Amino acid sequence: MPTHDPAPHRRRTARITLTALATLVIAAAATFALLYEPPPPPLPPLEITWTPAEPTQGHLFLIRVAAPPDSGAVSATGEAGGETLHFHATDSGLESFAPVPINATDSIDAWVRATYPDGRTQADSLRIPIVEGTYEHERLTVAPRFGSPPNEEDQARLARDREKAARVSRDAGATPRLWSPTMVMPRPYRVTSEFGTGREFNGQISSRHMGLDLQGFTGDTVVAAADGVVALVDGFLYAGNLVYLNHGGGVVSGYFHLSEQLVEAGDTVTAGTPIGRVGATGRVTGPHLHWVVRYGSTTVDPRSLLALVR
Ligand SMILES: [Zn+2]
Repeated sequence: MPTHDPAPHRRRTARITLTALATLVIAAAATFALLYEPPPPPLPPLEITWTPAEPTQGHLFLIRVAAPPDSGAVSATGEAGGETLHFHATDSGLESFAPVPINATDSIDAWVRATYPDGRTQADSLRIPIVEGTYEHERLTVAPRFGSPPNEEDQARLARDREKAARVSRDAGATPRLWSPTMVMPRPYRVTSEFGTGREFNGQISSRHMGLDLQGFTGDTVVAAADGVVALVDGFLYAGNLVYLNHGGGVVSGYFHLSEQLVEAGDTVTAGTPIGRVGATGRVTGPHLHWVVRYGSTTVDPRSLLALVR
């Protein structure tokens, strides 16, 4: 009688079962590894600083978001003083200019949201203390048209001028930073009227002087204060012949009352490029350069821009 030993078959069955089991265990482990991601390390605290510690009414200041190299924020958005911040990556993190409106009192509110390489975000809001600026008052006599409230036609013209200037500012917010740390005064001569001075025209209307007047005679050269692109070459009712430059990162500069414009819209300029000549066009008492710097729609003391990059 032939012997029939079922053992090899059983052993084979056992081996197959073991192999199947091992496969299952490996598959389960792989599935687990796929499904289970260890939690990411906690984000470093959002480190927001600003310079100077107490910015001045009507001045620009700098907001910085620190980004350590190993867990750096890749981008940030935010608002300060009612304007959108435009952050730019530097060696130590991200920085944006921010404005203090001239009518702000005590403090301004700001918020920043940083986005990290893994897509996580972190936000913080701040209250930034500010100091008062010193602003004087002066009385001026100008042509009768400019010394009384504008008529209907002039009002329409002023509204068109404002809209054109607003478009330049919007474009600057959508343009990456173009300026370099080199910035210059557009005229080498003395300041004849300070930024922010309260003004009364012909004893009838009052406003604030939202630019810096620099001395010059008709025909004297005006240069670009910083690197940028010529955004607008035009003639405005109050500003006269003007050139607006888009410096990117939300910053715009304007050069008013020119006798001659030496550039065209779209031209690239660097700090020191001649862009026009001093004149007496628009609402003026005589030839000079009225220099304007804006961040978004907020007009600031132009010298506060130069002070930040020096
Ligand atoms: Zn002026």
